[in-house]
Amino acid sequence: MDKRQAEKLREEKRRKRRNKKIKGYTMMAVCAVILVALIVFAVKGVIGFVAGSESDIDASSTVISSDVNSESSSDDTSSDEDVSSDEGTENPDNSSDESSSEETPDSEEPENNPANTTPVGEKPQQSWSTMLVNQWSYMPEGYVPEVRPIVYEGVSPLNNQFDVRAAEALENMLADARAAGYNMYLVSAYRSHDYQVNLFNRKVNEYKALGYDDTEAYNQASQWVAIPGTSEHCTGLAADIVSSTWYNYNSDLTHDFEETEHFDWLYSHCADYGFILRYPKNREATTGITYEPWHYRYVGTEAARYIMDNNITLEEFCAE
Ligand SMILES: [Zn+2]
Repeated sequence: MDKRQAEKLREEKRRKRRNKKIKGYTMMAVCAVILVALIVFAVKGVIGFVAGSESDIDASSTVISSDVNSESSSDDTSSDEDVSSDEGTENPDNSSDESSSEETPDSEEPENNPANTTPVGEKPQQSWSTMLVNQWSYMPEGYVPEVRPIVYEGVSPLNNQFDVRAAEALENMLADARAAGYNMYLVSAYRSHDYQVNLFNRKVNEYKALGYDDTEAYNQASQWVAIPGTSEHCTGLAADIVSSTWYNYNSDLTHDFEETEHFDWLYSHCADYGFILRYPKNREATTGITYEPWHYRYVGTEAARYIMDNNITLEEFCAE
C-alpha cells in the first residue's frame, strides 16, 4: 500500500467517524425533541384531567346534596316515632322518582331563570327575616328563635310553633285561605336544633349498627336526615302547608300537591303575608333542595314580593 492509498483510507475513516458523530447528534436532537413534546403533552393531559375531575366533583356534589339534605328527607326517620307525617316524606322511593321526573323538563329552566331580566321593583334590605340557612350556610351556632304555637284549627300536634315575629302573618294567611274556601293543614313548622340533632344521631347509630365506621355512618345518615344546622325549620320561619283534604289522603308530602287549587292559592297569595315558595321547581342547583310545593318561608312582605315577582330564590336575594 503506498502513501497515497494509506492517506485515502485514513481520510475515508475520518469521514465515516464524522458521519457517525453527526448521525449520533441528529438522533440525540430528535430524541430530545420527542421527549420535550411528550413532556408537554403529558403535563397538558394531567392539567386537563385535574381540571376536568374537579369540575365533575363540583357538579356531582351539588346534585347529590340537593336530594340529600332536603327537608322532606330529613323527616323520614321521624315517622318511626309517630311524628307528623311531613316527616314521612322522605320515603326514598318517592324522592328518587320525583327527582328524576323533575330533571327531565330542563327546557322550562330558561323561563324560570331570572338572569337576563331586569329586576322588578326596588330590592329591599336584608334583615332577620331573610336569614339564609342551607347546606352551604349553616344557622348561627346557638341560635334559638323565640317561638309560640300557631293558633289555627288544623295544625300538627308536633312542631306547630313559629317565630313570634312572624306567627301572626302565618295565622292570617291560613285564616284568609280558609275564608276563601281553601282549608289548609300546617304539617310542620319550627323544629328545635336538639330535635334535628337527635334525628341525625339516631340515623348515624343505625348505620354504625350495620358495621359502618364513623365517617361512613355520618355520610350515609346525611343522605336521609338534614345535617344539624342546615334545616330551615330550625329558624322558626319555615312552614310545610298542604290542604286538609289532600293531607287526609296522602301520608307523605309529594309533588302532587302542586296540582291542587290550594297550592294555586298559596302560591299566588303567599307574598301578601310575607311568605315565599322556598324551593321552587328547577331551582335545585341554587337552593340545594328538590322542589317542595308545600314548603313556605317567611321573609317579610317586601322581600317576599321582590323574590316572588322576580322569580328568584332566597339564595339569589341574599347574594345580590
Ligand atoms: Zn319543610
